[in-house]
Amino acid sequence: MKKIGVLGGMSWESSLEYYRIMNEEVKDQLGKTHSANFLMYSFDFHQVEVLQHENKWDELTDLMVDEAKNLKAAGADFIVIATNTMHLMAPAIEKETGLKVLHIAEATGQEIIKRGLKKVLLLGTKFTMEGAFYRDILEAMGIEVMIPDEEDRQRVHDIIYHELILGDIKTGSKKAYVDIIEKMALKGASGVILGCTEIPLLIQEGDVSIDVLDTTFIHAKAAVKNAIIR
Ligand code: GLU
Repeated sequence: MKKIGVLGGMSWESSLEYYRIMNEEVKDQLGKTHSANFLMYSFDFHQVEVLQHENKWDELTDLMVDEAKNLKAAGADFIVIATNTMHLMAPAIEKETGLKVLHIAEATGQEIIKRGLKKVLLLGTKFTMEGAFYRDILEAMGIEVMIPDEEDRQRVHDIIYHELILGDIKTGSKKAYVDIIEKMALKGASGVILGCTEIPLLIQEGDVSIDVLDTTFIHAKAAVKNAIIR
């Protein structure tokens, strides 16, 4: 089994899910007493979140690259960034470490294609919904990406940073997400990408009328698949 190097703690609420899913997936695949073989560096998310909102992306890139190098030195064979937003730094990490980053948008795109979906709604932080780094990968795979209007994007973003990252799961916020998803379903979305690794804490398959793409689950599962390929 290859050793997975995980950049986590963004936030720890979702890293906990990666930990659980990767172990369950290894057990499913290999049976017996097998469990996932990985290293995780867990950031203090406050430091990350402050730099994000101050638009200090170069500083964040340096932090991410340094920790990815430490994971490599400790024996990681490839890198998993356990957040959608911080995939902004995936190219820099690959360049500086020489290790492959198992990209969350690529893994999600493959799942979208497998399900035969053409047009999907992307929910996540404003950085993910409004930037090109995530959407470009999906569009290059032939997937049409929709995002909510500005007011709804702000709502989605605020719920992530003020509630989900703190482990605060509110019924009112779940309803707000469901309403936004159903509004976009009426505009033609046949699936919704939960493009922030904490959103699956709030929304699950069956809560809405369209397909749900849980990026935490898809990515953690893809990481295990990549680790156990001989
Ligand atoms: N975990 C979230 C994501 O998947 C947001 C936290 C972050 O900004 O990294 O984008």
